[in-house]
Amino acid sequence: RGFEHMGLDGRLLRAVAELGWAKPTAIQAEAIPLALEGRDLLARARTGSGKTAAYGLPLLQHLLRVKAAPAAVAQAVRALVLVPSKELGQQVVQALRRLAAFCARDVRVADVCAHAELAAQRPVLMEKPDVVVGTPGRVLAHLNARSLALRHSLELLVLDEADLLLSFGFGDDLKALLCHLPKIYQALLMSATFNPDVEALKELVLHNPVTLRP
Ligand code: AMP
Repeated sequence: RGFEHMGLDGRLLRAVAELGWAKPTAIQAEAIPLALEGRDLLARARTGSGKTAAYGLPLLQHLLRVKAAPAAVAQAVRALVLVPSKELGQQVVQALRRLAAFCARDVRVADVCAHAELAAQRPVLMEKPDVVVGTPGRVLAHLNARSLALRHSLELLVLDEADLLLSFGFGDDLKALLCHLPKIYQALLMSATFNPDVEALKELVLHNPVTLRP
């Protein structure tokens, strides 16, 4: 089944067509419909599997769906993507911006991976982007410095390369960061491998998740 049968917004379908993607990859075919239903996911997916769009398309669709509502939602950060490295973060930001290319100004993605200085990223966050992409360390630093607030606005959390998040030593930052989140949000966890650490993270972050091993 193709992308056009998933109930995705026309603007996202246009971006997918522009990228020349004929059909969803295995992880996309499984993850997108479930994520659109609002389910939490634990997905085994490695780089090259199409994992970024597997969470990116439902993430963008979620933002667009609520934005289309007549009563405009107050500007706030609504989605957070946590990555283990600056390099992956920049790739994710680029991929999300490509997928959001036809969403005009409805979706704004901020990269808090690049630049060394915390202060240099403040102006970007003050504009309340819809999506923030960053490492747990950097995101926690912004939360502690109050240049970022998520407790009243976060709707969707993604942990990309969750196994690396842990093996790169972000476990403590992640735990501290979770204290700044609201009680209820949708969470999508992508990991190339499933190990006891990832299982522990699953218990901490996911609520009644569907496990995908395509
Ligand atoms: P990722 O696993 O997210 O890093 O994606 C790996 C590569 O596959 C990226 O260059 C994507 O642009 C590309 N890609 C993602 N989804 C598809 C698809 N459905 N069809 C063809 N290429 C894709």
